[in-house]
Amino acid sequence: MSIAENIEKIRKELGEAITLVVVSKTRSIAEISEAYEAGIKDFGESRVQELVKKTPLLPADIRWHLIGHLQSNKVKLAVPHAFLIHSIDSIDLLKEINQEAQKTGKIVNCLLQFHIAKEPTKYGFIRDDIHETITLNSLEPYKNTNIIGVMGMATFTDDETLIHSEFQELMSIFNVLKEDLFKDNTRFKEISMGMSDDYSIALEEGSSIIRIGTAIFGSRPL
Ligand SMILES: *Cc1c(COP(=O)(O)O)cnc(C)c1O
Repeated sequence: MSIAENIEKIRKELGEAITLVVVSKTRSIAEISEAYEAGIKDFGESRVQELVKKTPLLPADIRWHLIGHLQSNKVKLAVPHAFLIHSIDSIDLLKEINQEAQKTGKIVNCLLQFHIAKEPTKYGFIRDDIHETITLNSLEPYKNTNIIGVMGMATFTDDETLIHSEFQELMSIFNVLKEDLFKDNTRFKEISMGMSDDYSIALEEGSSIIRIGTAIFGSRPL
């Protein structure tokens, strides 16, 4: 199937309320343009370097999502391009983004990334960070950031029960944050979970943003 056909099929499964972020890391400008022509405005990149190379070659109305771990020395490059940063995994990172955003008066949308998978290598906060490092006071100073939800990645596994339970965990974390810290913040409503192999499960568990690469473009070149 073509890129446009894959997009159409997935869009139908998602319905209107869910945001589809098309993950364009490693893909060519031609491939991304094809997805854009099929109506996609939200694209996700993992690496800032790659994002910076691609943005000038593609339409200006694309909303770029940064989905990979963001190193502090890349914040300066990332902030001007990012519509939504999914990968906030420390308060320090939030602080650095805020400093950079202040320079131009930009407000950067952010998601707090939580580690919900069994794999030890994935970045993110853990549930115990809530009320410890993630508090109203710790977030308060960063007026040029706008925290609108959470992001997480499930374990890469065939065990659907495990994937369900990990997405339920992220949902539960979202609900705790919503109740305790973001009660009065109507913008805190996004749950970014679900990739090519597990988005159906993520949808069942209440995802609002899914991030799909291979199911649209085919397998990534290694
Ligand atoms: C690469 C990536 C995706 C997309 O993965 P696919 O399996 O190609 O759909 C989604 N989220 C993150 C954080 C990624 O790094």
